[in-house]
Amino acid sequence: MPAKTAKHAKHQPAKRRHRRVSAAVVAGLGLIAGGLAGVTASPAEAAASVSGTVSTGGLVLNVRKEARTGAARVGTLLEGAKVTIMCQVKGNPVSGTVRSTDLWDMIASGMYVSDAYVKRPATPLPLCAPPTPKSGPTTTPAVGTSGWVLPVPAAMNSGFRTVDRPSHNGMDLAIARETPIKAAHAGVVMRAFCNVSAGTCDTDGSLSIVGCGWSLEIRDDEGITTRYCHMVRRPTVVPGQRVAAGDLVGFVGSSGQSTGPHLHFEIHTAFPATIENAIDPFPYLKAKGVPVR
Ligand SMILES: [Zn+2]
Repeated sequence: MPAKTAKHAKHQPAKRRHRRVSAAVVAGLGLIAGGLAGVTASPAEAAASVSGTVSTGGLVLNVRKEARTGAARVGTLLEGAKVTIMCQVKGNPVSGTVRSTDLWDMIASGMYVSDAYVKRPATPLPLCAPPTPKSGPTTTPAVGTSGWVLPVPAAMNSGFRTVDRPSHNGMDLAIARETPIKAAHAGVVMRAFCNVSAGTCDTDGSLSIVGCGWSLEIRDDEGITTRYCHMVRRPTVVPGQRVAAGDLVGFVGSSGQSTGPHLHFEIHTAFPATIENAIDPFPYLKAKGVPVR
């Protein structure tokens, strides 16, 4: 069955809403809800992360590859540094200047700091999901030396900011509903959310609905962020989760501003993903040795 041509005028998120928290909340900590200020958020999106402030009494705080004091140190944070906490994991106990705890915070880079030295809202934070199980050799696409893969095995049927669709900030890959979507690269899931101007993401959208539908954003260690839109249901990964290139992250659908099953795929040079930092995915993927066509 030929895939219906997917057309949609644009993929600007449904509502621009900069999250703010009253200054009365924990004065002095400079908290912002979700660590997502300036990022568009849909009404259906749950808070994905919180901001914290490093408080060590003047010492530097070690950033580690794993949630334990003996793990490799990958950097340091200064007193007063702001961190975006994606989720927490149990590690070894640490007695710090803020609290004594065995919890460690996974920060936006996917690395860990002891929660004993981080001032943050008292609200409990989600525990990090366990790593995605590796799929068998028959379902794992070949990952080239670049570390990038094509998220679905489809040809591009609509490109980036074409004459017809100057506000189309990604590429469309039309393919059957329920086709598994793979992470294009390794990174940390930053957002997994429903983005529609009206109704739900759990039904097919239309041209009159604005938004990406069921959406996902993954950020790599350099900040490159990929966005996946119009999934048939909630992505299979959650914020804070580390994924490898080729890991299953969701399934093709037609939610949001879409008229037929396809994956709308965007690449951004930084996180948060904005219209300004969107780049043309086609030449980028080609340069990475990914077989785009
Ligand atoms: Zn599109």
